[in-house]
Amino acid sequence: MIVLAGGDIVLPDRILTSASLIIDSTRIGSIEPTTRVDATGATIVDATDCYVVPGFIDVHVHGIEGHDTLDGGSAIAEIASRLPRYGVTAFCPTTVACAPKELRAVLAQVKAARASRPEGSARVLPAHLESNFINPEYRGAQPIGCLRSPIADPKGPRRIEQGDPHDAARAFTAREGDFTANDILQVIRSSRSDVGIVTLAPELPGGIELVRSLVTAGHLVSIGHTGANFDETIAAIEAGASHATHLFNRMTPMTHREPGVVAALLSRQDVAAELICDGYHVHPAMCRLAITAKGVDGIMAITDGTGGSGLPVGSTARLGGRTIRVSEHGALLEDGTLAGSTLTMDRAFEAIVSRFEFSIVEAATLCSMTPARQLALAGFGFIAEGAVADLVVLDRGFRVVRTFIDGREVYRNGGVA
Ligand SMILES: [Zn+2]
Repeated sequence: MIVLAGGDIVLPDRILTSASLIIDSTRIGSIEPTTRVDATGATIVDATDCYVVPGFIDVHVHGIEGHDTLDGGSAIAEIASRLPRYGVTAFCPTTVACAPKELRAVLAQVKAARASRPEGSARVLPAHLESNFINPEYRGAQPIGCLRSPIADPKGPRRIEQGDPHDAARAFTAREGDFTANDILQVIRSSRSDVGIVTLAPELPGGIELVRSLVTAGHLVSIGHTGANFDETIAAIEAGASHATHLFNRMTPMTHREPGVVAALLSRQDVAAELICDGYHVHPAMCRLAITAKGVDGIMAITDGTGGSGLPVGSTARLGGRTIRVSEHGALLEDGTLAGSTLTMDRAFEAIVSRFEFSIVEAATLCSMTPARQLALAGFGFIAEGAVADLVVLDRGFRVVRTFIDGREVYRNGGVA
C-alpha cells in the first residue's frame, strides 16, 4: 500500500486540497480529505505542495529523446521506457506514412509491447497510423512517395498541380517502393487489434468507403492531413469518422464563407479532436477558442512529439527515417518544413493552464480523461476510488515529480525508484 499524503488531488470535477490518496495494489483504494492517514505498513509519499493528477495519455506521439517509432529494432520499447518521466502512462505509438514492410515491423513491436509491459515503461496502446491515405497537398512532413489513393483514380495519375487540393489528391506519380494501397490495407487487416487510429483524408478517391470499412473493422478513423471542404468532412463524420488529427494543422482552415474541415470538426460533438498544445503549432488564442467551442470533453491534448522531444535545440533525430533538427519551436526537416513538435505532455499541461488559461481540472480532462474515453479505456484517465492507479505527481510548476503505473512508482525526479 502506498499513501500519497498531503497533496492537492485533482478529481474529475474539483481539487481536493491537502488530501491523501491511498494506492491499494494496482488501484486507487481510497481518497481521504486529510494529510495524515493511519495505514500500518504503508509507504508514505510526501505530496505536499504538489498536484496529484491522472496519468497522461498521448494518442499522437512519434518518438522521444532520439527514438522514432519507425527506427526498427526495439524502438517502441525504447519510447515506452522514456515517456513516464514526462508523466505519460499510456500512449499510441504514431507512424508517418511508410512502406508495408516497415508498417508490419512496427506493428509487430506494438503487439509485443502490448502483450507484456516491461517494469518502468508506459503502457503501449494500439498504434496511430498517420497513414498512406492522406492528401499530398496537406502532407506536411510526410513522405510524398509513400502516399496512395485508397482506390485508383479513374482519371489516372496526374502531376501535382499547386493550388487545387482535389487535383493534388489524385496525383500519385512520385512513388517510393513498389506497393499499392491494397498492400497497406492488408497489413492493417492482419494486425487489426494493434491498429487503434487511422488518419486519412476523406476526399481522396474511395476515401468515404475507406472510412466505412475501417470503422466496421473496429478502428477509430481520424480526419487529418486533408483538403476536404465542409461537406466532405461532414460526410466522413456521417460515415463513422469520430476523431480528428491535430486540429488546425494540415487541414483546410475556417473562414466565414468557406467553413472547411475546422468548422465541421468544431461544430460536431460526435468527433473528438487532437490539439497540439505547445502554443506554437496553434496560437494560444485559437487553442482557447477550440477548447471553448468543443468543450474539454471534445478535445484531446497531444504532443505530436518526435525523436527531437527532450533533446536540446540544434540536436538531430529521425522521423520515419528522415533527419529532423530540433529548433526553438519544433522539429524541422532539412528543408525547413515543420515536422512535428518537441513538446512533452507535462509542458502541454503547463501551457493549457498558464497560457490557454484553463483550470487544472480542465487540463487533466484534456490530457487524460478525454483521450481515455475516446479510446474506450475503462477505469483510466481519472482519479476516483477503484480507478486504475496510473498517476502523476506534479510540482507547482507542473514538472513531474513522480509517476505511477498500475500502482507502482516508475519514475521519480532525481532517480527512478
Ligand atoms: Zn504526427
